[in-house]
Amino acid sequence: MPANDVKPPPLVEKDFGNRIGLDFSKTSEYKKETKKAIDDAYAACKQFLKNKQAGNVKGFGAVVSDLDETLIDNRPHFEATPKFNWPAFEAWIKKADAPLLPKTAEFLTWARKNGFAIFFITGRREGLRADTIANLVKRQVAYDGLLMRKEGDRGGAESVKVPLRQEVEKMGFTIVVNIGDQWSDLSGGHAIDCEKLPNKIYLVE
Ligand SMILES: [Mg+2]
Repeated sequence: MPANDVKPPPLVEKDFGNRIGLDFSKTSEYKKETKKAIDDAYAACKQFLKNKQAGNVKGFGAVVSDLDETLIDNRPHFEATPKFNWPAFEAWIKKADAPLLPKTAEFLTWARKNGFAIFFITGRREGLRADTIANLVKRQVAYDGLLMRKEGDRGGAESVKVPLRQEVEKMGFTIVVNIGDQWSDLSGGHAIDCEKLPNKIYLVE
């Protein structure tokens, strides 16, 4: 969707939860929502390439992607740990062994092969950088930058992620697609196109 159309629907707390989300992630509706978002992400990139070929845009295109539940699939952890708690989640991150969500992984591989720089913007804190890189390397993810939440920054996701997208723009890139599983990954602009993946396991504001 165009960045201006990013309007989070009214969120109902009872619609989110570990079991609700894990079960939902096995439904055809989840698959359909994922496919639509990824298809639209490809389309936005292809349109940018067309415009570039026609000489209508300058500069370099980038794709910004969130990590958790956008590229990195933490469901094995949530299956094993029904009650969310940060120490357990960080211990899981430190194992650096999470699988990938294949549709996002395929899209990012395609985008990078087609000249887009790939920047990950994550709410994970800086102290988890080495573990996060270890997981990405283990899963053979190629990318150009990993931008993380500063240690001690307790701000909401939008307040962390908007300035990080601005950093990518300051490097000279146009963010063609911003993809995430939370509305707070997408709100605040600084992308041509935004794609929302489904996630009912948890809500990040
Ligand atoms: Mg996420």
